[in-house]
Amino acid sequence: MPETRVRACGITMLWGLLLLATSLSPAAAAGRKSPLVAVDVGHSLAQPGATSARGATEFSFNVQLALAMQKAIERERLKSLVVNLDGRASSLIERTQKAKHAKFFLSVHHDSVQPQFLKDWEWGGRKLSRSEGFRGFSLFVSRSNPFPADSLACASTVGRALKRAGFFPSQYHAQQILGEQKAFADKENGVHFYDGLAVLRASRSPAVLLEAGVITDRDEESELAKPKVKKAIAVAVARGLRRCLRRGRHRQPNLAAKTGKGAWPAMERRIATAPRGVEGLPALELAAAPAGQGSGRVRRHGPR
Ligand SMILES: [Zn+2]
Repeated sequence: MPETRVRACGITMLWGLLLLATSLSPAAAAGRKSPLVAVDVGHSLAQPGATSARGATEFSFNVQLALAMQKAIERERLKSLVVNLDGRASSLIERTQKAKHAKFFLSVHHDSVQPQFLKDWEWGGRKLSRSEGFRGFSLFVSRSNPFPADSLACASTVGRALKRAGFFPSQYHAQQILGEQKAFADKENGVHFYDGLAVLRASRSPAVLLEAGVITDRDEESELAKPKVKKAIAVAVARGLRRCLRRGRHRQPNLAAKTGKGAWPAMERRIATAPRGVEGLPALELAAAPAGQGSGRVRRHGPR
Protein backbone atom coordinates (compact mmCIF):
# COMPACT_ATOMS: atom_id res chain seq x y z
CA MET A 1 0.00 0.00 0.00
CA PRO A 2 1.45 3.42 -0.97
CA GLU A 3 2.49 5.65 1.92
CA THR A 4 -0.20 8.25 1.13
CA ARG A 5 -2.90 5.56 1.40
CA VAL A 6 -1.48 4.43 4.74
CA ARG A 7 -1.44 8.01 6.05
CA ALA A 8 -4.97 8.62 4.78
CA CYS A 9 -6.10 5.38 6.33
CA GLY A 10 -4.46 6.32 9.65
CA ILE A 11 -6.17 9.72 9.66
CA THR A 12 -9.51 8.07 8.90
CA MET A 13 -9.00 5.63 11.75
CA LEU A 14 -8.07 8.48 14.09
CA TRP A 15 -11.24 10.35 13.15
CA GLY A 16 -13.21 7.18 13.65
CA LEU A 17 -11.77 6.69 17.13
CA LEU A 18 -12.45 10.32 18.03
CA LEU A 19 -16.04 10.06 16.81
CA LEU A 20 -16.51 6.83 18.74
CA ALA A 21 -15.13 8.39 21.89
CA THR A 22 -17.41 11.41 21.44
CA SER A 23 -20.45 9.25 20.83
CA LEU A 24 -19.84 7.16 23.95
CA SER A 25 -19.25 9.94 26.39
CA PRO A 26 -20.29 11.14 28.75
CA ALA A 27 -23.92 10.06 28.72
CA ALA A 28 -23.59 6.69 27.09
CA ALA A 29 -20.52 5.75 29.04
CA ALA A 30 -22.12 6.85 32.28
CA GLY A 31 -25.33 5.07 31.37
CA ARG A 32 -23.46 1.88 30.68
CA LYS A 33 -21.75 1.96 34.05
CA SER A 34 -24.62 3.14 36.24
CA PRO A 35 -26.59 0.39 37.89
CA LEU A 36 -30.36 0.59 37.41
CA VAL A 37 -32.35 0.82 40.64
CA ALA A 38 -36.04 -0.09 40.50
CA VAL A 39 -38.14 1.91 42.97
CA ASP A 40 -41.39 0.08 43.59
CA VAL A 41 -44.32 2.13 44.85
CA GLY A 42 -45.89 -0.13 47.48
CA HIS A 43 -49.62 -0.97 47.24
CA SER A 44 -52.04 0.32 44.63
CA LEU A 45 -55.08 2.49 44.01
CA ALA A 46 -57.35 -0.49 44.64
CA GLN A 47 -55.46 -1.67 47.74
CA PRO A 48 -53.86 1.45 49.16
CA GLY A 49 -52.30 -0.13 52.26
CA ALA A 50 -52.41 1.45 55.69
CA THR A 51 -54.40 4.57 56.55
CA SER A 52 -52.55 7.39 58.27
CA ALA A 53 -53.67 9.00 61.52
CA ARG A 54 -55.24 11.82 59.51
CA GLY A 55 -56.83 9.58 56.91
CA ALA A 56 -54.37 9.65 54.01
CA THR A 57 -53.54 6.42 52.20
CA GLU A 58 -50.18 4.77 52.51
CA PHE A 59 -50.12 4.54 48.72
CA SER A 60 -50.16 8.36 48.44
CA PHE A 61 -47.21 8.59 50.85
CA ASN A 62 -45.39 5.89 48.89
CA VAL A 63 -45.86 7.71 45.56
CA GLN A 64 -44.41 10.95 46.89
CA LEU A 65 -41.43 9.30 48.51
CA ALA A 66 -40.72 7.19 45.42
CA LEU A 67 -40.62 10.33 43.27
CA ALA A 68 -38.24 11.99 45.72
CA MET A 69 -36.11 8.86 45.60
CA GLN A 70 -36.01 8.88 41.83
CA LYS A 71 -34.48 12.35 41.89
CA ALA A 72 -32.05 11.50 44.67
CA ILE A 73 -30.95 8.25 43.00
CA GLU A 74 -30.23 10.02 39.73
CA ARG A 75 -28.24 12.67 41.58
CA GLU A 76 -26.06 9.85 42.85
CA ARG A 77 -25.37 8.91 39.22
CA LEU A 78 -27.42 5.76 39.41
CA LYS A 79 -30.24 5.08 36.98
CA SER A 80 -33.77 4.72 38.28
CA LEU A 81 -37.00 3.11 37.22
CA VAL A 82 -40.16 3.81 39.20
CA VAL A 83 -42.54 0.86 39.14
CA ASN A 84 -46.29 1.18 39.78
CA LEU A 85 -46.36 4.98 39.90
CA ASP A 86 -49.92 4.92 38.55
CA GLY A 87 -51.02 2.42 41.18
CA ARG A 88 -52.34 -0.01 38.60
CA ALA A 89 -49.94 -2.92 39.04
CA SER A 90 -52.15 -5.98 39.12
CA SER A 91 -49.81 -8.21 41.10
CA LEU A 92 -46.61 -8.21 43.06
CA ILE A 93 -45.00 -10.45 40.47
CA GLU A 94 -45.80 -7.92 37.74
CA ARG A 95 -43.72 -5.37 39.63
CA THR A 96 -40.65 -7.56 39.72
CA GLN A 97 -41.09 -8.48 36.06
CA LYS A 98 -41.13 -4.80 35.12
CA ALA A 99 -37.90 -4.44 37.07
CA LYS A 100 -36.21 -7.46 35.50
CA HIS A 101 -33.30 -5.41 34.12
CA ALA A 102 -32.64 -3.63 37.40
CA LYS A 103 -29.54 -4.30 39.48
CA PHE A 104 -31.44 -3.53 42.66
CA PHE A 105 -35.10 -3.54 43.72
CA LEU A 106 -36.32 -1.18 46.44
CA SER A 107 -39.93 -1.37 47.57
CA VAL A 108 -41.14 1.82 49.25
CA HIS A 109 -43.68 1.65 52.08
CA HIS A 110 -44.92 3.48 55.15
CA ASP A 111 -45.75 1.66 58.31
CA SER A 112 -48.67 1.02 60.61
CA VAL A 113 -49.09 -1.22 63.66
CA GLN A 114 -51.14 -4.26 64.55
CA PRO A 115 -54.83 -3.48 65.21
CA GLN A 116 -54.58 -3.88 68.99
CA PHE A 117 -52.32 -0.83 69.14
CA LEU A 118 -54.70 1.45 67.24
CA LYS A 119 -56.91 3.89 69.14
CA ASP A 120 -59.97 5.67 67.82
CA TRP A 121 -59.87 9.40 67.44
CA GLU A 122 -61.49 12.15 65.41
CA TRP A 123 -59.76 14.51 63.08
CA GLY A 124 -61.27 16.85 60.53
CA GLY A 125 -64.72 15.51 61.38
CA ARG A 126 -63.70 11.93 60.54
CA LYS A 127 -63.47 8.95 62.82
CA LEU A 128 -59.98 7.58 62.36
CA SER A 129 -57.34 5.46 64.10
CA ARG A 130 -53.96 6.38 65.45
CA SER A 131 -51.13 4.77 67.38
CA GLU A 132 -48.60 5.97 69.92
CA GLY A 133 -45.13 4.89 70.84
CA PHE A 134 -44.06 3.20 67.62
CA ARG A 135 -41.84 5.23 65.35
CA GLY A 136 -38.82 4.86 63.16
CA PHE A 137 -37.80 3.22 59.92
CA SER A 138 -37.47 -0.50 59.22
CA LEU A 139 -35.80 -2.42 56.43
CA PHE A 140 -36.60 -5.97 55.36
CA VAL A 141 -34.71 -8.57 53.39
CA SER A 142 -35.72 -12.08 52.40
CA ARG A 143 -33.51 -15.13 52.58
CA SER A 144 -35.68 -16.50 49.79
CA ASN A 145 -34.46 -13.78 47.44
CA PRO A 146 -31.89 -15.20 44.99
CA PHE A 147 -29.25 -12.82 46.39
CA PRO A 148 -29.69 -12.61 50.14
CA ALA A 149 -26.18 -11.49 51.03
CA ASP A 150 -26.29 -8.58 48.60
CA SER A 151 -29.76 -7.64 49.75
CA LEU A 152 -28.61 -7.53 53.34
CA ALA A 153 -25.41 -5.67 52.53
CA CYS A 154 -27.37 -2.92 50.78
CA ALA A 155 -30.07 -2.80 53.47
CA SER A 156 -27.33 -2.22 56.02
CA THR A 157 -25.72 0.62 54.08
CA VAL A 158 -29.15 2.21 53.58
CA GLY A 159 -29.97 1.91 57.28
CA ARG A 160 -26.61 3.38 58.20
CA ALA A 161 -27.14 6.30 55.82
CA LEU A 162 -30.59 6.97 57.28
CA LYS A 163 -29.14 7.02 60.78
CA ARG A 164 -26.42 9.43 59.69
CA ALA A 165 -29.17 11.69 58.32
CA GLY A 166 -30.85 11.74 61.74
CA PHE A 167 -33.46 9.01 61.31
CA PHE A 168 -33.77 6.12 63.72
CA PRO A 169 -34.64 2.47 63.32
CA SER A 170 -37.70 0.99 64.97
CA GLN A 171 -37.59 -2.01 67.26
CA TYR A 172 -41.27 -2.78 66.75
CA HIS A 173 -41.10 -5.60 64.22
CA ALA A 174 -38.74 -7.69 66.35
CA GLN A 175 -40.97 -7.58 69.42
CA GLN A 176 -42.92 -10.54 70.76
CA ILE A 177 -46.14 -9.42 69.14
CA LEU A 178 -48.42 -11.71 67.20
CA GLY A 179 -47.76 -11.11 63.52
CA GLU A 180 -44.35 -9.56 64.16
CA GLN A 181 -41.30 -11.28 65.68
CA LYS A 182 -39.19 -10.61 62.62
CA ALA A 183 -35.63 -11.46 63.63
CA PHE A 184 -33.08 -8.75 63.20
CA ALA A 185 -30.61 -9.29 60.38
CA ASP A 186 -28.75 -6.12 61.38
CA LYS A 187 -30.17 -4.62 64.56
CA GLU A 188 -27.88 -1.62 64.57
CA ASN A 189 -29.16 -0.49 61.18
CA GLY A 190 -32.78 -1.56 61.53
CA VAL A 191 -32.75 -4.52 59.12
CA HIS A 192 -35.02 -7.54 59.65
CA PHE A 193 -35.43 -10.86 57.94
CA TYR A 194 -38.87 -11.30 56.42
CA ASP A 195 -38.48 -14.27 54.16
CA GLY A 196 -42.09 -14.53 53.03
CA LEU A 197 -42.41 -11.11 51.43
CA ALA A 198 -43.41 -12.02 47.88
CA VAL A 199 -42.04 -8.90 46.28
CA LEU A 200 -38.57 -9.56 47.71
CA ARG A 201 -38.70 -13.26 47.02
CA ALA A 202 -39.71 -12.82 43.39
CA SER A 203 -37.20 -10.09 42.60
CA ARG A 204 -34.54 -11.06 40.10
CA SER A 205 -32.04 -8.76 41.76
CA PRO A 206 -31.04 -8.03 45.37
CA ALA A 207 -34.07 -6.46 47.01
CA VAL A 208 -35.01 -4.49 50.12
CA LEU A 209 -38.34 -3.26 51.44
CA LEU A 210 -38.24 0.06 53.28
CA GLU A 211 -40.84 1.16 55.81
CA ALA A 212 -39.95 4.85 55.93
CA GLY A 213 -41.87 5.60 59.10
CA VAL A 214 -45.12 5.08 60.99
CA ILE A 215 -47.98 7.07 59.51
CA THR A 216 -50.46 6.05 62.21
CA ASP A 217 -48.39 8.07 64.67
CA ARG A 218 -49.63 11.65 64.43
CA ASP A 219 -46.28 13.33 64.98
CA GLU A 220 -44.41 11.05 62.65
CA GLU A 221 -47.11 11.40 60.01
CA SER A 222 -46.72 15.20 60.17
CA GLU A 223 -42.98 14.86 59.70
CA LEU A 224 -43.26 12.35 56.86
CA ALA A 225 -45.69 14.63 55.02
CA LYS A 226 -43.10 17.43 54.79
CA PRO A 227 -41.31 17.67 51.44
CA LYS A 228 -37.99 18.43 53.13
CA VAL A 229 -38.26 15.27 55.23
CA LYS A 230 -39.14 13.17 52.18
CA LYS A 231 -36.11 14.64 50.45
CA ALA A 232 -33.86 13.91 53.44
CA ILE A 233 -35.00 10.28 53.50
CA ALA A 234 -34.59 9.95 49.74
CA VAL A 235 -31.11 11.46 49.74
CA ALA A 236 -29.99 9.16 52.55
CA VAL A 237 -31.40 6.06 50.86
CA ALA A 238 -29.82 6.99 47.54
CA ARG A 239 -26.44 7.53 49.21
CA GLY A 240 -26.69 4.19 50.96
CA LEU A 241 -27.56 2.45 47.69
CA ARG A 242 -24.78 4.17 45.83
CA ARG A 243 -22.21 3.08 48.43
CA CYS A 244 -23.44 -0.48 48.28
CA LEU A 245 -23.81 -0.77 44.51
CA ARG A 246 -20.57 0.98 43.65
CA ARG A 247 -18.70 -1.24 46.06
CA GLY A 248 -19.92 -4.29 44.27
CA ARG A 249 -19.79 -3.21 40.68
CA HIS A 250 -16.55 -4.94 39.70
CA ARG A 251 -17.60 -8.38 40.74
CA GLN A 252 -20.41 -10.82 40.23
CA PRO A 253 -22.17 -10.23 43.52
CA ASN A 254 -25.10 -12.47 42.88
CA LEU A 255 -23.03 -15.41 41.87
CA ALA A 256 -20.81 -14.85 44.87
CA ALA A 257 -23.81 -14.70 47.17
CA LYS A 258 -25.18 -17.91 45.76
CA THR A 259 -21.99 -19.84 46.01
CA GLY A 260 -21.04 -18.36 49.35
CA LYS A 261 -17.61 -17.55 48.05
CA GLY A 262 -16.77 -14.32 49.46
CA ALA A 263 -18.56 -11.28 48.14
CA TRP A 264 -20.01 -10.57 51.54
CA PRO A 265 -18.63 -13.33 53.80
CA ALA A 266 -19.75 -11.65 57.02
CA MET A 267 -23.25 -11.20 55.61
CA GLU A 268 -23.39 -14.77 54.45
CA ARG A 269 -22.44 -16.00 57.93
CA ARG A 270 -25.11 -13.80 59.46
CA ILE A 271 -27.72 -15.13 57.07
CA ALA A 272 -26.72 -18.72 57.74
CA THR A 273 -26.68 -18.44 61.51
CA ALA A 274 -29.51 -16.00 62.28
CA PRO A 275 -32.61 -17.45 63.91
CA ARG A 276 -35.64 -17.60 61.70
CA GLY A 277 -38.23 -15.36 63.31
CA VAL A 278 -41.75 -16.59 63.75
CA GLU A 279 -43.47 -14.97 60.85
CA GLY A 280 -47.10 -14.88 61.73
CA LEU A 281 -48.10 -13.72 58.31
CA PRO A 282 -48.33 -15.58 55.04
CA ALA A 283 -46.35 -14.72 51.94
CA LEU A 284 -47.97 -11.38 51.37
CA GLU A 285 -46.74 -7.91 50.83
CA LEU A 286 -46.17 -6.25 54.17
CA ALA A 287 -49.13 -3.93 54.39
CA ALA A 288 -51.49 -6.41 52.80
CA ALA A 289 -51.77 -7.71 56.35
CA PRO A 290 -54.64 -6.37 58.44
CA ALA A 291 -53.86 -2.79 59.39
CA GLY A 292 -50.23 -3.23 58.49
CA GLN A 293 -47.42 -4.02 60.81
CA GLY A 294 -45.59 -1.22 62.33
CA SER A 295 -42.18 -0.03 62.53
CA GLY A 296 -41.48 3.54 62.54
CA ARG A 297 -38.99 6.15 62.24
CA VAL A 298 -37.83 8.67 64.77
CA ARG A 299 -35.95 11.68 63.68
CA ARG A 300 -33.74 13.33 66.22
CA HIS A 301 -32.48 16.14 64.08
CA GLY A 302 -32.58 17.12 60.46
CA PRO A 303 -35.46 18.99 58.94
CA ARG A 304 -38.28 19.86 61.30
ZN1 LIG B 1 -47.06 -1.09 52.90
